[in-house]
Amino acid sequence: MTTGVGTAPRSPDLPRYRGRFAPSPTGPLHAGSLVAALASWLDARAHDGQWLVRIEDVDTPRCVPGAADFILQQLAACGLVPDAPPQWQSARGALYQRALDELVSQGHAYPCACSRKDVEDAQAALGHARERHAALPYPGTCRRGLHGRPGRSWRFNATDFKQKQALALDIQALEATTLIAINLLHWQDRRLGLQQQDVASAVGDFVLRRADELWAYQLAVVVDDANQGITDVVRGADLADNTPRQILLQQALGVPTPRYLHTPLVYGDNGEKLSKQNGAQALDLRDPAHALSALARAASVLGLTPLAHPNNNCIPDALALWVAAWRRNYNGPS
Ligand code: GLU
Repeated sequence: MTTGVGTAPRSPDLPRYRGRFAPSPTGPLHAGSLVAALASWLDARAHDGQWLVRIEDVDTPRCVPGAADFILQQLAACGLVPDAPPQWQSARGALYQRALDELVSQGHAYPCACSRKDVEDAQAALGHARERHAALPYPGTCRRGLHGRPGRSWRFNATDFKQKQALALDIQALEATTLIAINLLHWQDRRLGLQQQDVASAVGDFVLRRADELWAYQLAVVVDDANQGITDVVRGADLADNTPRQILLQQALGVPTPRYLHTPLVYGDNGEKLSKQNGAQALDLRDPAHALSALARAASVLGLTPLAHPNNNCIPDALALWVAAWRRNYNGPS
């Protein structure tokens, strides 16, 4: 299979480790997103690797003007400076198109005519009721054709993909139990341990390009991680259940799967995960002392040693201490 997403074969000059922090510019960094930023930076430094920042601004209606620059300033105030100029997803549409074309030509993606209401009606007809916050799998309405309706979005055929892989391995006589085993995707998270998901039954055939012509996060993130030679993804645990979809796409595009580490989340007083959507406060980084205490809170979420002298406002010293602690915790074999 080709690597049409523009990945070059890894040259011996490329660093052994390349990590990234990939904020969506929907608002400033808050206490939760700083944990992911700090963890990805520490992991890169602990491996003597490179650390990149990628601005994930494909979902343009959710992006806030000026937020990306503000996030970069917040990172710099915390001493987290990328090793190369940040990449912006909004400039990378041609790469995503190339990847989609490749998936379509391999028979792994298909056009979908369903509106959100069509999907909900089909799910209801199957007797599925939506639980709070839970997404139901796409019922597969357009998998075998559009039946004369115009295509609106593009979906990855997760339902058939694992079985096609199995057939390529010449597995004969698929019994029901074998089929269940084949559909399960396993991966090793460096903090959470062995994980598994049956993508077809958990989420179904997922969207690659939306009806409003915006690129879906799943496709953009896989293309960019491959294109930028990312070896290690370190990000918040709220994204852990996206990983199997991303691994399927990597397999379909013939690009390497990075290692994954999902960091603990930060919860607000209402018990909900801190997020821009539920009104998390922007970090107060007005001077080095404030930046250091924000970093110290993030470090403690990551289980790192509290600072011996919290009043010493030296961010580089604190970061060096945490790199050493991180190295002890996370540099083992995975
Ligand atoms: N852009 C995503 C976010 O801000 C992170 C994506 C990733 O790290 O894979 O939640």
